Amino acid sequence: MNTFPFIENRSILTRTSGFLGEGYTHSLNAYAGCGFSGSLCGSYCYAQHNHWITQGRSWGFYGIKQDIRTAYRRDYDRIKRPQRSQPKSLMIYMSSSTDPYCPQEQRAQVTRALLEEMVIRPPDAIVIQTHGTLITRDIDLIAELAKQSKLWVSLTVETDREQIPGFPAQASSPAKRMEVLAKFRSQGVPTQATVSPLCPIENIQRFAESLERVCDRVILDHYLLGDGSHGLRTRRTSFPQLLAEASFGEWNTMEKFESVLSQFRLVLGEERVLVSAKGFNSI
Ligand code: SF4
Repeated sequence: MNTFPFIENRSILTRTSGFLGEGYTHSLNAYAGCGFSGSLCGSYCYAQHNHWITQGRSWGFYGIKQDIRTAYRRDYDRIKRPQRSQPKSLMIYMSSSTDPYCPQEQRAQVTRALLEEMVIRPPDAIVIQTHGTLITRDIDLIAELAKQSKLWVSLTVETDREQIPGFPAQASSPAKRMEVLAKFRSQGVPTQATVSPLCPIENIQRFAESLERVCDRVILDHYLLGDGSHGLRTRRTSFPQLLAEASFGEWNTMEKFESVLSQFRLVLGEERVLVSAKGFNSI
């Protein structure tokens, strides 16, 4: 029996604005809150600043959106098959305020259910963004969907370090995430690594070379660029302070970001290294 709380939802496809508004028409979050909130990414997570999502609660996993298949079919048909006007385009970012492959997905399988629906009702474009490795479970469906939609498999790999001193453990091993990227790429599915936000990297050259082998492109970001407030929101979290306390203070600066960007572009080439919002919105 499923013991996760179910959240009522009138709509599963949400109109985008702000950071993702240039490239996507809708975001899709199958979960409310996120099961990776206690990991490294939870310490900087931008979604935790959205009061509409947290409703005053501390950042965590809140539940599963109800009747996900019906909601997708209903929203899709409303967008793509209107009675009187031309079908509108549907460019989905999955997900902006949760992880479609958070630990709960192993059992709940709502992301898998959505992919099954999407193979029948394909969006024009979709980015599937995760910090986890469970996405390989759905490689068959994703490869199938990639034949019908413009699709990117996007894994965040913030660093080459398995553990950053002073920070929580990562959602999954960076080395394993890179293996996942390589696996999708070998199946002909477009892949991107999001080094976002920039975290202390042990060996920048070696990391760039590894990424060059496993994915089609890299999106590099820094919280001073990408948190939507020039770093003000992130400064309300422990993230910058933890960096400073672990003697990684220079990683709080744009000078460090620019230096990593130059090194990445030397290894991968200009076109394969995109930056912040412009990169995320390039589909
Ligand atoms: S996986 Fe994404 S949404 Fe979840 S805590 Fe990490 S950054 Fe936030």
